[in-house]
Amino acid sequence: MLKNDQLDQWDRENFFHPSTHLAEFARGEAPQRIVTGGSGCHIEDRDGNRLLDAFAGLYCVNVGYGRPEIADAIAAQARELAYYHAYVGHGTEAAITLAKMVLDRAPDHMSKVYFGLSGSDANETNIKLVWYYNNIRGLPQKKKIISRWRGYHGSGLMTGSLTGLHLFHQKFDLPLAQVLHTEAPYYYRRADVNQTEEQFVAHCVAELEALIEREGADTIGAFIGEPALGTGGLVPPPAGYWAAIQEVLAKHDILLIADEVVTGFGRLGSMMGSDHYGLKPDIITIAKGLTSAYAPLSGSIVSDKVWKVLEQGTDENGPIGHGWTYSAHPIGAAAGVANLKLIDELNLVQNAGEVGAYFKKALTEAVGDHAHVGEVRGEGLLCAVEFVKDRDDRVFFDASEKVGARLAGELVKEGVISRAMPQGDILGFAPPFCMTREEADEVATKLGKVVKTVLG
Ligand code: PLP
Repeated sequence: MLKNDQLDQWDRENFFHPSTHLAEFARGEAPQRIVTGGSGCHIEDRDGNRLLDAFAGLYCVNVGYGRPEIADAIAAQARELAYYHAYVGHGTEAAITLAKMVLDRAPDHMSKVYFGLSGSDANETNIKLVWYYNNIRGLPQKKKIISRWRGYHGSGLMTGSLTGLHLFHQKFDLPLAQVLHTEAPYYYRRADVNQTEEQFVAHCVAELEALIEREGADTIGAFIGEPALGTGGLVPPPAGYWAAIQEVLAKHDILLIADEVVTGFGRLGSMMGSDHYGLKPDIITIAKGLTSAYAPLSGSIVSDKVWKVLEQGTDENGPIGHGWTYSAHPIGAAAGVANLKLIDELNLVQNAGEVGAYFKKALTEAVGDHAHVGEVRGEGLLCAVEFVKDRDDRVFFDASEKVGARLAGELVKEGVISRAMPQGDILGFAPPFCMTREEADEVATKLGKVVKTVLG
């Protein structure tokens, strides 16, 4: 086993970490954590710290760490058959079973699931499917994709473009020209503070209508959105938002892609976010919760309506020219089957809903009255606390003050991992679904202490 010093040095010298300040890390100025184990809601690191992970990794270890049922399923699959591809009709029992399990949990009008590896590649697949769909329908102009500011859909070329966060565009020459952004359904940050929630929804709809009018509905193929905004701030939609948006999309023959990478398989306390908020998507993106990140696997769930056109396309043009070597990887699929079974057996979706409601209340009691807390919000086990300089006039802190990052840094010293969301001073909490009320209390109490220390 490598000694800590050696590991630290090799890490700084050789490892290109994602979403990291590269120069500071290489110089040894940015923090490093070498994670060695985990159990339930906790992880352990090489330095002997045991931390309550209230963000479930990157909101993905939904069943919690250290589940032998999933580890055993992965090991058994690796021993039996570690890999075979899924091209030209090949498959494995694990992948076929998982496809059935996914469809059983998806809205009734969904038809098939294509498996990828990450949320990003699943969304790349989705955009290609939209383009193919409209080419087959004889609508070659209908290709632009509408996304929302603050949406997060990945960090590839297309998906990084769909993502509506500046950090993911700047210096990468993104967004690409086919992508258009519209208003984020983020009521707390509405430009006009006098707007009611209803008026704000009407404003979001008007913005969307105006964009479609400007660009021409005949040039727009799809609208992509997370049922509840994730990385852009962890924001449940205002009441009536999805019904109103879907009406506009239907009127203009624009497909809806529900990006359920975070919300899929229970995070909101419902199996799917689409059911939770009444979405009727044409395509659904799934990833994280599909395997609870025990192995990389994602999926694009395609509706009957889209599937029929895809079939027509292959009758006219031959096999679909899309696939990854690792599509439906048997080890990922075995992890997925074991994970979805475990979610059912342990009643984890229900727990996410019940403990989620308890957790939000505990956070509100701990910090809701603080002068620098603008909002405590959440749905199921997707919660956030937004910090502001002036709560009455809703004045935000300057980004240079790094309030969110400082709070997350102090909280980790108390033994709790949260996430400072990338745009704004927003602390995110999205723990594993097995979180107990005691653990929820611990997070809330420690947050209360840290907020007092950092913000007075
Ligand atoms: N879509 C959403 C809603 C996400 O939250 C993420 C990742 O956080 C992605 C897509 C991209 O997934 P991945 O990081 O697996 O590529």
